[in-house]
Amino acid sequence: QKIVIAIDGYSGCGKSSTAKAVALKLGYTYIDSGAMYRATTLYFLKEKVDLNNPDELQQALKKIQIAFKKNFQTGKQETYLNGMNVEDAIRSMEVSNFVSEVSKIKSVRTDLVHRQQQLGKAKGVVMDGRDIGTVVFPEAELKIFMTADLEIRAKRRQKELLEAGREVTLEEIIRNLSERDEIDSTRKESPLLRADDAVEVDTSHLNFEEQVDRIVDLANE
Ligand code: C5P
Repeated sequence: QKIVIAIDGYSGCGKSSTAKAVALKLGYTYIDSGAMYRATTLYFLKEKVDLNNPDELQQALKKIQIAFKKNFQTGKQETYLNGMNVEDAIRSMEVSNFVSEVSKIKSVRTDLVHRQQQLGKAKGVVMDGRDIGTVVFPEAELKIFMTADLEIRAKRRQKELLEAGREVTLEEIIRNLSERDEIDSTRKESPLLRADDAVEVDTSHLNFEEQVDRIVDLANE
C-alpha cells in the first residue's frame, strides 16, 4: 500500500474532487493545499496586508490558523480560517483572481509547505496542489500530473460554480484559469511542473469515475 499520493496539475483539472474520491476509496486523509493558499489570500485581502512589506507579511502569517473539518451533515470537508468556516468565501472569484499572486511569495510558500508537511504525517495521505510531488513530498510513493483541455476544464468549473449557486461566464473562467496557469508555471518559487517520476493523467476524455479508478489502480499496483 502507498503512503503519500501527490496530485499536481493545472487549475481546474478536477484535482481536488478526484483526490477526495481517491482518499475516500483508499481510506486515506485528503489535504487540499490550494485551500490553504486560498485561505491565506482571503486573510490578506480582509486585513489589507501589504504584500510588499516583508515584516507585515511575516506577522500576518503568524496569525493565520488553518484547519480542515468534516461537516457531518454533508459529509464534506470544509476549510476553517482562525475558527471561521471559509469554505465558500475562499472559492469566490475575488480570491481566485488574487491567489496566484499571493502564491508567488517566497515567505508564504515556505510557511505553507511546512504546514503541509506536518499535515502529511498522517498514515495515508492524498494531497493535491501544484508543487506536491516536486517540493512538499518529493518522496511520495505515487505522483500524478493531471492535465485537461482548457475549454473542457472551464466548462466543468462553470457547472460546478452553477451547482454552488454562482453564475460566472465561460470567458471569465477561461481568463482566470489561464492566468493562474501562466503565473503558477512561470513563477520563480517552485513553479508548477511535472515531476520526472509523475504519471501523467489527461482527463479531457475521462469521466469522473474513470479518472478516480485510474489513480486508485496505480496506487494498488
Ligand atoms: O488548487 P486550487 O486551484 O484551489 O489552488 C489555488 C491557487 O493556489 C493556484 O492557482 C496556485 O496559485 C496556488 N497553489 C500553489 N501551490 C499549491 C496549491 C495551490 O501555488 N500547492
